[in-house]
Amino acid sequence: MSSSLNHFIAADPEKCIGCKLCEVACSQAHSSGPAFTAGALSAPILPRLYVVQTPEITIPVQCRHCEDAPCANCCPVSAISRKNGAIVVETKLCVGCKTCMLACPFGAIELLPVYKNGAPVMQAVLCENGETSMDEVPMLFAGKCDLCSDRKKGPACVEVCPEKALSLIDPSRMKRERNIKAAMSFLNTSQNFS
Ligand code: SF4
Ligand code: SF4
Repeated sequence: MSSSLNHFIAADPEKCIGCKLCEVACSQAHSSGPAFTAGALSAPILPRLYVVQTPEITIPVQCRHCEDAPCANCCPVSAISRKNGAIVVETKLCVGCKTCMLACPFGAIELLPVYKNGAPVMQAVLCENGETSMDEVPMLFAGKCDLCSDRKKGPACVEVCPEKALSLIDPSRMKRERNIKAAMSFLNTSQNFS
């Protein structure tokens, strides 16, 4: 994927029926090992897009891969960067400080547990009731849409949506196509006057 502008996934609220299949597919695409049903997943469903339902609208919300990404700009350990036209998190570098969560205007980042071979990876933290002793809790990282950049067939959510409510947008190409359409409409208009 290469373009001057980052790609992103757009959702059509007119088409979305709120089935959440996109959330399941997203979680499966980011977990290790194959799983074809929710019951066969090797980890809890941990999507990187979030279907929002209100009385007025049903639509998945996810990362817009901002050009001047606030999440990347504020990360104190440089764990978020631009890679192949997408804003991605380097899991190994993330310390779970939540700064990116606060900075994202879309709420597109969630602190997610790290899973390996079906089990959460644990980390030592300070004990709540003791000043010197340590406790073990699941390791967390900033999880967000990465456009399924390692997946040959592209974003899993786009592929599975039964209503075709999701699409991968290439903003530069979309702009060019609209420019051409506008130019053609001028041509048709001028022919009508000649
Ligand atoms: S799979 Fe499609 S229809 Fe179902 S919740 Fe996701 S976007 Fe909406
Ligand atoms: S996570 Fe939020 S701030 Fe970061 S690129 Fe995506 S939409 Fe922008």
